[in-house]
Amino acid sequence: MLLIKAYMNDKQTQPRFQRRTAQREIMLRTLRTLATHPTAAELHAAIRAELPTISLGTVYRNLDLLVRMGQVTKLESLGNEARYDGMLEPHYHARCLRCGRVDDIPVRTSAVSADRIKAPKGYHILGHRLELVGFCPACRSTDRRKRSGILPDTGEDLDNRSDNR
Ligand SMILES: [Zn+2]
Ligand SMILES: [Zn+2]
Repeated sequence: MLLIKAYMNDKQTQPRFQRRTAQREIMLRTLRTLATHPTAAELHAAIRAELPTISLGTVYRNLDLLVRMGQVTKLESLGNEARYDGMLEPHYHARCLRCGRVDDIPVRTSAVSADRIKAPKGYHILGHRLELVGFCPACRSTDRRKRSGILPDTGEDLDNRSDNR
C-alpha cells in the first residue's frame, strides 16, 4: 500500500518535461525493436501497453520532434502514409507495393555508387536513397493461397507472370 502511494505521488510530482522525455524514450525504444518501419498509428498501437493514455496526436508530435533531433528518419513515399525508421546507420529499403511494409536492406550504401549519376545543373547533392519495390512474403503467400483455391480469388493477383506459378 505504501509502495503504491509513493509511486502515485512520484507520478503526480514528476515535472511535465520529464514525462515527455520518458514518452519519447519509450517511443524510440519501441521503434528500434520493430523491423517494420511503422506508421504513427502502428507505433501508437505498439506503445499502448506501456503508455495507455498517450494520444495519437502526441505520438505524431513526438515523432516530428525526434525527426528534427535527427534520431528518427521519416520515410515518405507518394500516396503512402509516412513511416518511421529508428535505424540511424545508412541503409536501403525494400517496400511492398500492396501492404506498404518497409524492410531494411543491410548493405553498405557505398556498395552502390552514385558517382555516375549526373545531378541536375545547380543542385548541391547531400546523398542518395535507394528503394527496392515489390511484394512482401506475406502478400505473396496470400496471393499463392488465392491461386490454389484456399482463399477466395478477388481478382487482384500480384502479377501474372507464368514463371511465378
Ligand atoms: Zn506486403
Ligand atoms: Zn530502415
